[in-house]
Amino acid sequence: MDEKIKQSFKMMIAYQKKDIELRKLNNLIERDEALAVMNKYRHAFDDAKRAIAECEQQAGVLLDTFAELQRYIEDNETALAELENTDSGESEEELERRVKRLESLKSKFQSADKKMHDIQDKAKAVCNRRADAIKTGNAAKQKFAEAREKHGKLVNSKADELKRLKSELEEMRKALDPKLFAEYAKLVDENKFPPIVRAVADDKKNMFNCGGCGLNLSQKGNASLNDQGWFRCENCHRIIVLLD
Ligand SMILES: [Zn+2]
Repeated sequence: MDEKIKQSFKMMIAYQKKDIELRKLNNLIERDEALAVMNKYRHAFDDAKRAIAECEQQAGVLLDTFAELQRYIEDNETALAELENTDSGESEEELERRVKRLESLKSKFQSADKKMHDIQDKAKAVCNRRADAIKTGNAAKQKFAEAREKHGKLVNSKADELKRLKSELEEMRKALDPKLFAEYAKLVDENKFPPIVRAVADDKKNMFNCGGCGLNLSQKGNASLNDQGWFRCENCHRIIVLLD
């Protein structure tokens, strides 16, 4: 391999090594269990909030129904009082009609009373659900805060290392071959990490494999690799280098 190209690759590989370190550190932070815990309790808190809103909406409906029933009972109480007020000069027919109306009104009152009790039961259930949701919501808030603090500690403990790696990479980048770095960045964007891989010797076939995807290189690939010291994998497009 041409000495200048070899040097470029060596610097690029050193950069990649540090880039791997940075990625490992970022992964460690992103995969922090406390983050997953935060997510879990954020959802639990949102669920509780939704339950409370639902309860309040249901309570509103129950209150409306209750008021409606109360109005119905009040309206009919007057009719009931009138019906109970017997008139001595009443004929048997009129009396019978009055009794029938009284009975019908009585059954309507009973059904209204039953509805009132239903509302009371429902209201109790809604209140209990709301109280539970408040309790769950508060607990979730507390757990979320704890997890956030834990995650914050991890982030803080790694902040210096992260900063150091980033600034070192920035410094190293200045010395890299721009064209090579552009190819590197392109492969990173395509999720082909690491972009630079070593040629893996396949002794049986006396050929080379791609150190990234593992595929055998073609005759042409092998020839190029031996000739110029590097080759683009025909399969994954990573840059395969032959360095001693
Ligand atoms: Zn490959």
